[in-house]
Amino acid sequence: MNIFLQERCLICDQLIRPEVGWRSLLSIETDQFICGTCEGRLERIEGETCRICGRSFAALADDFRHGDLCHDCWRWEEDPQWQGLLEKNCPIFHYNDFLKEVIAKFKFRGDYMLAKVFSEDMKRALLKMEIDLLIPIPLSEERLYERGFNQAEAMIIEAGFPPANILSRIHSEKQSKKSRTERIHLPQVFQFIHEVQLQGKRAILVDDIYTTGSTLRHAAKLLKGAGAVSVKSLTLAR
Ligand SMILES: [Zn+2]
Ligand SMILES: [Zn+2]
Repeated sequence: MNIFLQERCLICDQLIRPEVGWRSLLSIETDQFICGTCEGRLERIEGETCRICGRSFAALADDFRHGDLCHDCWRWEEDPQWQGLLEKNCPIFHYNDFLKEVIAKFKFRGDYMLAKVFSEDMKRALLKMEIDLLIPIPLSEERLYERGFNQAEAMIIEAGFPPANILSRIHSEKQSKKSRTERIHLPQVFQFIHEVQLQGKRAILVDDIYTTGSTLRHAAKLLKGAGAVSVKSLTLAR
């Protein structure tokens, strides 16, 4: 029980006022990692969203909508090379200025503890999905060395799920050794670290942010090509 323990907010370091009441006495409340102010600055994505990327339609101009798709997803789906590869992305929060700061602190300054901030939200989202393999989008070896951990993998672990580290980024040197035509026709970003049985499996990719959707689609292409029956993704932000 942590009734009298004063914990600090993992984001702003302010003291979190301990909630004393029946809930805490019975010790059934979930751990609080951030203060109410920070919690209030995170904007959850609610309401009508793009069928594929999960972007909210609320702040999107009508010209950027094509039925139930946003303009970006519509363009991906128009391209036969990418069509249908990423079935759905489930984002949790809007990528607002506040979350931008938090994510920067998390990944660029290597603050692993911030993975805990999102553990409950990640867990809730993952429990709603049908998962055979939960795959974190890998960092390049250099990035991993710089940061010390992969933020996507950290979020999976803190949410209480086992990450399937089956992908690695293709080293840029290897890329440059290929001929130009090879690079254009095989724009592979990821490769399998070891052989995995993907036939008929439902894969969920995890990343911190969905921006252009290109990273997730590259990974989805590889997984689908290896037999995965569906590829969806979960991202902290969109
Ligand atoms: Zn705070
Ligand atoms: Zn979209």
